[in-house]
Amino acid sequence: MNNIAHTYVDLRSDTVTRPTPAMREAMYRAEVGDDVYGEDPTVNRLEEYAAHILGKEASVFVPSGTMANQIAILTHTQRGDEVFIHRDNHIFYYEGGAAAMWSQATFNQLNGPQGLMTADELEASIRPRNIHHPRPRLLALENTHNRAGGAAISRERFFPLVQVARRHDLSVHLDGARIANAAVALNVDIRELTQDVDSVSMCLSKGLGAPVGSVVAGTRDYIDQARVYRKWLGGGMRQAGIIAAAGIYALDKHINRLAEDHGRARYLAQQLQSLGYHVDMPLVPTNMVMVDLDRSADEFIAALRTREILVGAMGAKRLRLVTHLDVDDEGIERTIAAFSRLF
Ligand SMILES: *Cc1c(COP(=O)(O)O)cnc(C)c1O
Repeated sequence: MNNIAHTYVDLRSDTVTRPTPAMREAMYRAEVGDDVYGEDPTVNRLEEYAAHILGKEASVFVPSGTMANQIAILTHTQRGDEVFIHRDNHIFYYEGGAAAMWSQATFNQLNGPQGLMTADELEASIRPRNIHHPRPRLLALENTHNRAGGAAISRERFFPLVQVARRHDLSVHLDGARIANAAVALNVDIRELTQDVDSVSMCLSKGLGAPVGSVVAGTRDYIDQARVYRKWLGGGMRQAGIIAAAGIYALDKHINRLAEDHGRARYLAQQLQSLGYHVDMPLVPTNMVMVDLDRSADEFIAALRTREILVGAMGAKRLRLVTHLDVDDEGIERTIAAFSRLF
């Protein structure tokens, strides 16, 4: 994949972005130290900056979004505790059952449109404290919601769930892998979407364009404990300032430009619709386009690949196309042309 990726239009994910020359320059110049000793000045700067952007007291830099979420759950729960989660959330659907290994929490999977359970369903599923029931402990949210087509979820829509959680003494964790996309699409400050939650994870390595890394943010005490779990999981890195510098650059320069990715995704969705494809649009779309086919997604993907277009599958007959930093207008036009020949 390495060399052909420059001629291919790669819409499989926004994780495929490569650091820009200016980002590499920032990485080259990064001051570094041993972060396990707390002595890497660039990691420390990233952690303060990310905490500020997310509106929390502190944050910790971790290698991946999966580790960020797993550390967050570990920090909130004891073994057996109950986590209320939508069954389409990344933490349940795409993290390999990791919580069964690390936190050993019980997942109560709920349903509902666009990646949100209803407040009534959440309320009804929280059972009284009783020797027969796990201890209800955590509500897990996701924004933007990946399996719901990259849906950005406004505060108005998730706040009723937070209220139910508070009434029952549950903590709230937000998987904000793409929280910056949500804020840009909703035209609000990121903090408006994070102020109600206790902890939030955010990926630097997706649409923000850094090569590696995520953060978890929360209160200072919470993050002190999260740092212990990061060490347990082997996520303590040494001269990590080299990659943290890319994260700082991404937070500085690549948040506002997400609007360009959203514009391209919207245009792509409209064009595919006008070709006759069924595009499943969320209420507030971001950088993803979900296409429902009447045939096998795998075969369609293989046909697109021969035309140097790479897309992902989100089900047997569903495609996911993701716009990002490395997809320009010409790439979008080439994609539309390839789809028009395959209809
Ligand atoms: C990508 C993603 C993650 C995990 O990130 P990795 O860095 O791939 O481990 C978590 N949550 C959501 C919603 C994601 O899209």
